[in-house]
Amino acid sequence: MSRVYVPLLLAQLGVIAWAPVHLLSWSYAAVLAMLMLTVAQCWRRLRFSVPHNRPLWSLLLLALVAQFGAFGLLFTDSLSNPLGTLVAFDPTFYFCLGSLLLTIAAAYNPVATLYRWAGVVDAVLACAIAALFYFTLHQVLNAPSPAPPPATFVMWMFDAMGLFVAVFATLRLVSTKRSDERRFFFVLSVFAWLELVVPGIHNRFILHSESYLPELLLGLPFVVLGFLLGRRRKVWLRSYRPSRRIRHLAESVSPFVMSLALCCLAFAQLGKNPVLATSTLILAILSYAARNAIVLGQHLAFEDDLRKLKRGLQQAVVRDDLTALPNRRGFYRLMRREWDGALKTGRALSVAMIDIDSFKAFNDTYGHLAGDDCLVAVAHALHREASLQPDVMVARYGGEEFVALMVGYAPAASEDILERLRQRVEAMQIRHARSAQDVVTISAGLASTATARYTDSDKLLNAADEALYVAKRSGKNRVQWVE
Ligand code: GH3
Ligand code: MG
Ligand code: MG
Repeated sequence: MSRVYVPLLLAQLGVIAWAPVHLLSWSYAAVLAMLMLTVAQCWRRLRFSVPHNRPLWSLLLLALVAQFGAFGLLFTDSLSNPLGTLVAFDPTFYFCLGSLLLTIAAAYNPVATLYRWAGVVDAVLACAIAALFYFTLHQVLNAPSPAPPPATFVMWMFDAMGLFVAVFATLRLVSTKRSDERRFFFVLSVFAWLELVVPGIHNRFILHSESYLPELLLGLPFVVLGFLLGRRRKVWLRSYRPSRRIRHLAESVSPFVMSLALCCLAFAQLGKNPVLATSTLILAILSYAARNAIVLGQHLAFEDDLRKLKRGLQQAVVRDDLTALPNRRGFYRLMRREWDGALKTGRALSVAMIDIDSFKAFNDTYGHLAGDDCLVAVAHALHREASLQPDVMVARYGGEEFVALMVGYAPAASEDILERLRQRVEAMQIRHARSAQDVVTISAGLASTATARYTDSDKLLNAADEALYVAKRSGKNRVQWVE
């Protein structure tokens, strides 16, 4: 479809070279044909786009339709006035509407729905900017005669509006992470810069020369846009990834650019319409504050969620999923702390390795799910009994093995605690047909810094493990001191 632009541009060139009576009308007709083609390309792109990007492409499409309206009016006007000075129709409304839609597109964030209210504030700001721009423009255009409308001033106003849209679109382009969105913002930025530069050059040429050749420039932004829209699979700046700093900078600058534009327009009104100027300034300040409050509120909520998540993760790392007891990592962390404490205070540290007796046979007889239930029941029993004593902690060491840590207990007292743990498990009377006692039992191996000298905590743990094997060999369901 992009190839059709070439004959249209050539036809426009032919018209200008041939210079018929209604040269301008023919030239505008060519621009309208190019625009129509670009609208069709944009419609096609909209249909192929991913759903969350459709609002973006729709806004661009609507902006093109608004421009179509503006050029339609220029065309109609040129029919009654071949020299091209506006007499009957004013296209500025549609040009302003086009800029407004492009600004909303540049402000719209299709993915971050959390910032929807910030998006609403942006849309309100964009509407206020476009409305005030239109109002100011008409103040200038309708200035009382004999002063002629200052064409240069109007030109600068349109340049400023174009620059605002182009800067805004570029900010989004450099800060967008997702490649599908970047595709849109690349197209939007190129179009916005062309819409700034090309009409700017056209207007200056028209002002200073009699030639109609600059009319050729009018269709150029639509031709380039149509060409970009026609590139099906192309993703520009594919390898570009905005750094965090650029993203944060662009995100914080965007609302500022909007409020600043509104402030500039308010200042332009200060002499002529102080009430309007003051209320616009208040709107600019309030909207900036509201937008920041919304974003800050969201960030604080995020921070809160992250803190909760961090806490949850920190706990999950040291907690066993099945039994909710501390896991091996949690146990080692505690063991290291208590070992260092015991070295300083000289308090005794006792460790017991606890193992469920004939648990493989339990699994084989009753199944793994029943085995899991049994593990949970034993864990709870051990924990409940241990928590009756101060400074006694039980953890799941792994599999069907548990470990108990007792701080500040004499050997006899720690053996007493272990015996109570053993009795509590036995007292649950969980049926185990392949065990000597017909119920689930545990064996424990005990070691304490009060009975021997251990150079580090691993040695103490190994001693408890050795004692456990002795307990197993001696018939299970018992507490055994290291020999
Ligand atoms: P002993 O009396 O000598 O300790 O014999 P045992 O059968 O208890 O010991 P063994 O080391 O032979 O078997 C341990 C079993 O524990 C094997 C494994 O299937 C089971 N087990 C380990 N972790 C889990 C678990 O999370 N759930 C279940 N259901 N079983 C587990
Ligand atoms: Mg075992
Ligand atoms: Mg076992």
